[in-house]
Order: sequence, then structure tokens, then C-alpha cells
Amino acid sequence: MKMPFEWVVGDSSKGLHGDRAHVYDETGHRELHHVKGHYLEIASEIFRMLSDPTRIRIILALRMGELSVNHIADIVDKSPAAVSQHLAKMRLGKLVEARRHGTTMFYTLADEHATHLVTEAVFQAEHALDDAPRHHAIEHAAE
Ligand SMILES: [Zn+2]
Repeated sequence: MKMPFEWVVGDSSKGLHGDRAHVYDETGHRELHHVKGHYLEIASEIFRMLSDPTRIRIILALRMGELSVNHIADIVDKSPAAVSQHLAKMRLGKLVEARRHGTTMFYTLADEHATHLVTEAVFQAEHALDDAPRHHAIEHAAE
């Protein structure tokens, strides 16, 4: 009997990312199955970590690439100290990575997942506020 799914378990030395058990179906579409309890706990921590408008704006600002703390602070209109605190927490959660150059800290997104989470949350917000969400209008315009 042909198995519809093939398990591909990543290299555990790669941390949170590599630990993840991926399932690919025959179309190459990726799904997660049998998510273990501690992944659910961490997943809810990730939502908690993103449950702040300033953090969401920081993630959106970092989509375009690496930025200094001061530059991020300008974009999100908060003090560099406040932005640094948010970034430190998101760095602990491995959402962002830091690089020091002299006395300046630069941040990037650790991977594309935070962008997807935030983008989908914004789309969900559009559904909550609008009967004709903007992101659906854009999809139709592109057709
Ligand atoms: Zn939608």
C-alpha cells in the first residue's frame, strides 16, 4: 500500500527549525501532523510574543531586510530603548537575529515565518473589520 505521506525529520542540531517534523504530500505541499505538546506550548508562546502592535510593526519593518535599532525606532515611532526591549524578547524567541557593528545593533528576521504569521494576522484583522477585505480585492485585481 502506497503511503500518502513521507516523513522528513530535520537535523536536530539546527534547533527549533531542524527539530520540526515535516510531512510532504505528493504535490510537495507541506503540512504538520502529530504536533507534540511542547511544540504547541511554544507555538502559543510565539503568538504571545507577537501579541503587541509595536512588535507587529517591527516584524513588518524588518521584512525588507536588516535595520539598526534607531532606524526601526524611527519607523515604528517608539524610543530606541523601547524597541531594544521588544527586539531582545523576540531574539530570545528566535524570531529575530542581531548583529553588532561598533556600538550599533542591527536586526534581521531569523526566517520568513514571523512575516507569514503577521501578514495572516493582518488579513484576519481585515476580515474582522471589513466585509470586503482589502487583501481579497488585491488578489482579484491581480487576476
Ligand atoms: Zn481573506
